[in-house]
Amino acid sequence: MTDLTNQVAIVTGASRGIGRAIATLLAVQGAKVVCVARSEDELLEVAQKTNGLPVVADVCDERDAQLVVSETLSRYGRLDIVVCNAGVGSFNLLENFSAEEWDRMFDVNVKGTFLLCKAALPHLKEQQRGHIIGIASDVSKRTFVHGTAYGASKYAQHAVLDALRKEARPYGIKVSVIYPGLVDTHFNEAKPGGVDKEKTHLQPLDVAQAVRYVLEAPAHVVVDELMLHPVTQEW
Ligand code: NAP
Repeated sequence: MTDLTNQVAIVTGASRGIGRAIATLLAVQGAKVVCVARSEDELLEVAQKTNGLPVVADVCDERDAQLVVSETLSRYGRLDIVVCNAGVGSFNLLENFSAEEWDRMFDVNVKGTFLLCKAALPHLKEQQRGHIIGIASDVSKRTFVHGTAYGASKYAQHAVLDALRKEARPYGIKVSVIYPGLVDTHFNEAKPGGVDKEKTHLQPLDVAQAVRYVLEAPAHVVVDELMLHPVTQEW
């Protein structure tokens, strides 16, 4: 089993929802966590709780992605884990989507994943070790009405990471992708909590536990993919 104590982990979208739960759980396991998001106040709160390093950054911006990696290396001297979790989504009939909304989803969900992996890879390759985890979605593998733009962005994020697994394997770098079903977060301006949500939705901690499982696999094992749903959700 891989010990997470003192492992250095970047977690994007750490200000709330799934990313916050991942950052918190990794810190509990003894990892040093670099918390990334745009909302400074929420980020500072999470960083304080996890004794981590807050980096206010927009994952769509290449200079910000480079900054996240350079701040990590200058604070901790190494980088072991990269969790590409930041994501946005909205849902509508195709003809009602604006081109701007399409671009926003692809910028955050696809380009954001690409840019952070690009910034981190030279360091992971040099040390011949590392673990990249993407938080994709079950809709990376199925389509649904109102899901043209979000689903396309999540299929694309899955494709980026799937191909990267093949590129990175010769360097000893693992790439794992998690595909959650419904999760009770602020996603798409939802309000977490409320009647029966614990029955109809996963909790952010459920996804964080999946990330922990994947990261703790023995050194010779890579969990390529892990999909999880609430029992009540038909897939
Ligand atoms: P959430 O509660 O809305 O959190 C989204 C996080 O992403 C926030 O921390 C947000 O922080 C960050 N973020 C958004 N745009 C960003 C940007 N440009 N730069 C940096 N950070 C950015 O949603 P969530 O449910 O936790 O979503 C996390 C991931 O899980 C997403 O990739 C989503 O696609 C995936 N997922 C969610 C569900 C679900 O049902 N909730 C299901 C499957 C997969 P700031 O706004 O502070 O920047």
